[in-house]
Amino acid sequence: MGVHDHVDLNGFIEGVKRRNPGQPEFVQAVQEVAEDIFEFIGDKVKYHEAQILRRIAEPDRVVSFRVCWEDDKGNIRVQRGWRVQNNNAIGPYKGGIRFHPSVTESVLKFLAFEQTFKNALTGLPMGGGKGGSNFNPKGKSVNEIMRFCQSFMTELYRHIGADVDVPAGDIGVGGREIGFMFGQYKRITNHFTGVLTGKGLEWGGSLIRTEATGYGAVYFLQNMLTSKGMDIAGKTAVISGSGNVATHAAEKIVQLGGKVLTLSDSEGFIHDPDGITQDKINWVKDLKNVRRGRISEYVKEFKGASFHGGGARPWGVACDLALPCATQNELNGEEAKTLLKNGCIGVAEGANMPTDLDGVHIFKAAKILYAPGKASNAGGVAVSGLEMSQNSARMSWKEEELQEMLKDIMRGIHDRCLEYGGQGGGYTDYVKGANIAGFKKVADAMLAFGV
Ligand code: GLU
Repeated sequence: MGVHDHVDLNGFIEGVKRRNPGQPEFVQAVQEVAEDIFEFIGDKVKYHEAQILRRIAEPDRVVSFRVCWEDDKGNIRVQRGWRVQNNNAIGPYKGGIRFHPSVTESVLKFLAFEQTFKNALTGLPMGGGKGGSNFNPKGKSVNEIMRFCQSFMTELYRHIGADVDVPAGDIGVGGREIGFMFGQYKRITNHFTGVLTGKGLEWGGSLIRTEATGYGAVYFLQNMLTSKGMDIAGKTAVISGSGNVATHAAEKIVQLGGKVLTLSDSEGFIHDPDGITQDKINWVKDLKNVRRGRISEYVKEFKGASFHGGGARPWGVACDLALPCATQNELNGEEAKTLLKNGCIGVAEGANMPTDLDGVHIFKAAKILYAPGKASNAGGVAVSGLEMSQNSARMSWKEEELQEMLKDIMRGIHDRCLEYGGQGGGYTDYVKGANIAGFKKVADAMLAFGV
């Protein structure tokens, strides 16, 4: 008998809280996973004895560094950057870089922890990591963003590598920023490798990487609906966010015959009862990616739509389907209840941990079709994995091949959730299924390696 035999779920969570003071997001993510894993481990002594969950919930390393850059007025600015390398049991660390004022070590630790399970679920050989900075790209000039990205990479480059750790984009980091960072990596190391994903098509990027997270989330939703003999066609969808994930989720919903009612940003949401059509989605993409404007501008362009400001969130709009595609903890217990009351039957998370713990418990208890981000938003990192393969092979695959691979991977994740989350009576707990399937793969690899 080991020294930890007395530790039950509550004891474990208390330990996580004690060891990670002031890190509520990280504790939340671990707790959500631990609730399912403790049940799964049960009397499987091998996982207990090897302290596997305890080890996955302790990042391999947290690299923290200073990022020094010069703004357009010649002022020297100093900020913090991090790379959290959570676990590399099944492949090189892999996960995005986030530039947003809300970034803290806790946020990046939760994201790297989630990424570990998500990446395992894709079936591809990728470990989990995440990085970023509290740098706020809003209102910065392109030159300022370039200088920040270069300084960030001047520190980060020594910790990453195509077979070591492969970052990508996330909130505040898109193709432009990946370009600036890749350029700096190449300048410093002289290596042209697949060290980052989300690259431009001309320099090693993959087709459909941009679309993959949003499309994948909708494919996952479609798989859930199909398992119940239902379909996206004719259904209304409420979507939060207006960035890469949200606009591509909206696009795929529309392609499959659904009607999208909302999009949002941190200032509020727009509600378009006529439906946000492909033309309108293209307008939003241009607004966000080129003009870098706010979603409130939508109502000036499209009559019949309304804007709800003050940071309002769209969950009060009646819908069949909800896709939170903005950020963590953007949907709480009360909002989950409102969605259910208004008849929502399916939720697929495009963001990472958008639903808080109360909300998760409410969706689980209501037994609706509820997909956690680590399952439903895995399409992005999955195509990143395919980008890594193409880079290693020095090839680029065709769009149709990649589309099929993405659909296949999302179907595979859905099946893994069914395998471990099937509860009998036709109900699947996708949270549990994703947690257990992701855990088992990483845990078995760790057991093979010894301590
Ligand atoms: N940031 C994305 C995620 O949360 C993509 C990560 C990647 O492509 O490495 O999964």
